[in-house]
Amino acid sequence: MTSPPIFDGHNDLILRLLRGTATPEGVTAGLEDGHIDLPRAQAGGFGGGFFAIYVPSPVDKDAKAEEMSHPSYDLPLPAQIPQPEALRITLEGADALEALEAAGALTICRSVAELEAAIHAPKMAAIMHIEGAEAIDPEFEILHQMHARSLRSLGPVWSRPTIFGNGVPFRFPSTGDIGDGLSEHGKRLVAECNALKIMIDLSHLNEKGMDDVAAISDAPLVATHSNAYAVTPHSRNLTDRQLSQIAQSDGMVGINFASAFLRPDGQMDSDFSLDVMMRHLDHLVKILGEDRVGFGSDFDGALVPKDIGSVAGLPALRQAMVDHGIGDEMMEKLCYRNWLRVLRKTWGA
Ligand SMILES: [Zn+2]
Repeated sequence: MTSPPIFDGHNDLILRLLRGTATPEGVTAGLEDGHIDLPRAQAGGFGGGFFAIYVPSPVDKDAKAEEMSHPSYDLPLPAQIPQPEALRITLEGADALEALEAAGALTICRSVAELEAAIHAPKMAAIMHIEGAEAIDPEFEILHQMHARSLRSLGPVWSRPTIFGNGVPFRFPSTGDIGDGLSEHGKRLVAECNALKIMIDLSHLNEKGMDDVAAISDAPLVATHSNAYAVTPHSRNLTDRQLSQIAQSDGMVGINFASAFLRPDGQMDSDFSLDVMMRHLDHLVKILGEDRVGFGSDFDGALVPKDIGSVAGLPALRQAMVDHGIGDEMMEKLCYRNWLRVLRKTWGA
């Protein structure tokens, strides 16, 4: 089954373009590898999602994978990235997203009305998102410029520290209560995003930082790609207290497909049943309710379950939900309607 369309909270396709492992024309025509291209999106019923602009750290991917195969791990956080360097790469990321639109792969959406039309159209629907605010200056000039260029969502941090706050290191087992909360710049960033109606993404932010956002923000609390700590005690997942905060704000959580955040043993190994994903879904729905849960795949940024594999494998996820007893109405909410709901509340009609 290829419907309802799945619109999700996070992917890293732009990073592939920045690294030169994919071209805009290739995404439109179809790629040999990776998780996302237009033909496979159409085959699997991928309606689009938040396309992250992310400034990579110089880390050794093989070393990370090796470390995360230990029963417990605590990866060191990469150093802060200087703003001019981050800005250069962030602008390249925005260029890449616009090049994908020019190549006919996707439509950049700035409103819920645009999203509603694009999710059901042949091209993917895209929200411009910045994951980690290293490029943003303390006077928010860049924030305003990026908003004018269609930015509608921003995470104050990836896992590295920024002038705004602190993210969680990849640590298992551990809660996300690691380090201090938002800086004064970070608190002002939240207010500025509220004023511009830019959604604030809590995924990667540490627990004290999330408490600060909860205290300041006038928008629903959203974690675009995080799972339930009660199932997988990983630093990137959310405790029941955090989930209750999100529920109270009428926000939502997008379920991350990353194997290490889904598997109860925290291992980066894609060989496991989608029943494990249903355990996270059940727990999130139990605390958040069926209107506040969706997906946040992390396609092209994580090792996803082997039964999904890429956007072409999304029918297996829908089937797992049907087998799990999820009916048509709840299916539509989980697949895309809840994202529209929370964005309508955040951005306005
Ligand atoms: Zn991420």
